[in-house]
Amino acid sequence: MPPRLGLKIDVDTWQGFREGIPALAEILAARSIQASFYVSLGPDNSGKAVFRVFRQQGFLEKMWRTRAPAMYGLRTMFYGTLLPAPVIGEGAGETLRGLAAAGHEVGLHGYDHVRWHDHLLTMSRKEVSRELARAQEFYIRYLGRPARSFAAPGWQCSAAHRAELAAGGFLYSSDTRGYAPYFPRFGAEVNALLEIPTTLPTLDELLGFNGCNPDDFTELVLSRLHKSSVPQVLTVHAEVEGGPLRLEFANLLDRCRALGVEFFRLEDWARELLAEQDKVPVAAVRQGRLPGRAGTVSCQGPLEAQQ
Ligand SMILES: [Zn+2]
Repeated sequence: MPPRLGLKIDVDTWQGFREGIPALAEILAARSIQASFYVSLGPDNSGKAVFRVFRQQGFLEKMWRTRAPAMYGLRTMFYGTLLPAPVIGEGAGETLRGLAAAGHEVGLHGYDHVRWHDHLLTMSRKEVSRELARAQEFYIRYLGRPARSFAAPGWQCSAAHRAELAAGGFLYSSDTRGYAPYFPRFGAEVNALLEIPTTLPTLDELLGFNGCNPDDFTELVLSRLHKSSVPQVLTVHAEVEGGPLRLEFANLLDRCRALGVEFFRLEDWARELLAEQDKVPVAAVRQGRLPGRAGTVSCQGPLEAQQ
């Protein structure tokens, strides 16, 4: 079997939506690759995130390492604080329909990315439901049906949000960092919605870490694909790989293709997995830290037998 790689493309910001998506769509089209896009459709409050991360351990070091202002653009760093927060979903129809027409999967990446990232773990199910409903409203307006897949902003995953997704007709979600698909357990409760975790580190996490450059990152991805018997999932950010690092991203895809890597959309893999649902194991979800990322993210625990 050739190595398999799912591209999970998160769109967090107005700039990522307006500039990153077209750039990535062009790179993918030139290589006949179909990917899974997850879009935040609410207000772009990135500026608030900048103030939040200033207080977090490891932030200044990361700003220095990744040259964040050059990476994200200065305007984005002030949205929702000094500048009003633009609503990404307003006027987003053409771009969303273009992605779907090109054969890409289009899922949701929450409504207000910053609110989800900072407050999900204390949000009630009702509050989560409101975030999802607002995002779905835009989605249905432009694509004529509700989204069936979701990717949690900042890999923040809670029992309340998973229960809401499971009741909301979703096929699967990609909310955590882990190593293989599973059904997430919260305490004694096993969530009925399939989880397909991100299995690889992200470029923005490793860039500059111990001198890691984009070529080193590509080597790491290739070696993981080569060694691993299970398909891998790489999270890509429209603001980064569709922005200043787009040439490096195109190079990564070319290197993968030269090695015969097969690309897949996460929804297609979800259908394959759900056809043999009883083979999918259960695993607990816990908050953990990852190298190069400030704060904690939701991580997959050790595999348990299906219940
Ligand atoms: Zn995100």
